[in-house]
Amino acid sequence: MRTVELLKVAKKALENSYSPYSNVRISAVLFGDDGIYTGVNVENASYGLTVCAERVAVFKAVSEGKKNFKKMLIYSPDVFPYPCGACRQVLSEFFPEDFEVIVTDGRSEESFTLGELLPFNFKL
Ligand SMILES: [Zn+2]
Repeated sequence: MRTVELLKVAKKALENSYSPYSNVRISAVLFGDDGIYTGVNVENASYGLTVCAERVAVFKAVSEGKKNFKKMLIYSPDVFPYPCGACRQVLSEFFPEDFEVIVTDGRSEESFTLGELLPFNFKL
């Protein structure tokens, strides 16, 4: 699936972002042989319980037994949504260093490998 198509999916998913505190809407789309999984940021009044869009998408997929993905597109019209450190670590739990991460605000985009985003992940 091309980036432009992933962006369409991300824009649709964004409608479900629950972000009344930051007013920053973010969505993420996982894509690969196991299909498409989306996530949005889900905030909480006790800020620390907020979960990022990237982790929502990964946890949805993994909880359904799906781990075979090639890339993730992260979208926000409100910020340029580089993934946070926690999400980079979660991505590195399930995906290889050449997993592609596309970050876009809908006007420009940047593409990274997971290895570039998190060169020294925590492993046991
Ligand atoms: Zn995050």
